[in-house]
Amino acid sequence: MSKIFISNWKMNPQSFSEAESLLKLALKFKTPKIKIVLCPPFVWLRDLILKYKNKIEFGAQNMFFEEKGAFTGEISYKMLKNIGVKYVILGHSERRNIFGETNEMISKKVFVAVSNNLVPILCVGENLNIRKKGKKIFEKFVLNQLEASLSTLIHNKIFNKEIIIAYEPVWAISGSGLGIADTPENAKSITSLIKNFLFKNGFKKFLVLYGGSVNSSNVLNFFSQKEIDGGLVGSASVNFDEFSKMIQILNKGLKNK
Ligand code: PEP
Repeated sequence: MSKIFISNWKMNPQSFSEAESLLKLALKFKTPKIKIVLCPPFVWLRDLILKYKNKIEFGAQNMFFEEKGAFTGEISYKMLKNIGVKYVILGHSERRNIFGETNEMISKKVFVAVSNNLVPILCVGENLNIRKKGKKIFEKFVLNQLEASLSTLIHNKIFNKEIIIAYEPVWAISGSGLGIADTPENAKSITSLIKNFLFKNGFKKFLVLYGGSVNSSNVLNFFSQKEIDGGLVGSASVNFDEFSKMIQILNKGLKNK
C-alpha cells in the first residue's frame, strides 16, 4: 500500500491563483508511491474540486456535526458531500485550543462523518506540559483523548468504516506549537500504540499518520517507518519549494511496495 500525504493548507494561500499553482505542483510530482490529499480552505476547495476532481483527492479542514440551520460560520457534511469531498480533518489541535472544541464535539463530528461516508482524519496529541510528565503519562493522555474522540463510534459499534488518525503532538506543530518535530522513534512507538488500541477495540480499517513540523529534511525518516502510514503536513505543504522537495524525496527514497 502506498503512503498517504495529507496537506493541511490551514488559512493559506490568500488567492485562488496561488491555490491552483500549489495544486498543479502536486499534480506535477504525483507518484503511485504516495497518495496526496489536499485540504485547502473552504473558499478554494469548491473551485479546485470542480476543476480537478478526477486528478487528485480533496479533504476539508473542518465540519460541523449538525446537518443545517442557524450555525453561523459552519459547514455541514452535506455541503462537503455535495461538492465531492472525501476526507475531513477533525479535532485538529488548533480547533481544540483556539476554538474550544471538546472531545465530545469531535466525537459527534466523527460519527456524522463516517455515517455519511466521509473519511475522518482525527487528530490527537499531547501538549508540552503533558509531554514533560514522562512517557507513561503522555501515552495515556493520547489514548484517552483518542478513546473520547471515538466514543460515538465505539458506543454505536461502528468499526467497519475507514478512519485515519493523525498523531500530532501539539508542541511539535509549526506556527501554533514550537515547530520542533518529534523523533521518528517516538512517532513510531505511539503510532503502534494507537494501532494496538484501534485493533483491540475492533476497528477494522484504519491508517495512523504522524504530523508536526514535517519538512524536506525529515519527511523520509517518518514516512519510511513501516508503522507510520504517512503524514499530515501543514506549513511545509504550502511552501512551493518544500512541497516539491518532499514529494521528490519520498518518491526516490520510499521502497516500492
Ligand atoms: C498540522 O497543522 O497539522 C501540522 C502538522 O502543521 P505543521 O506541519 O506546520 O507542523
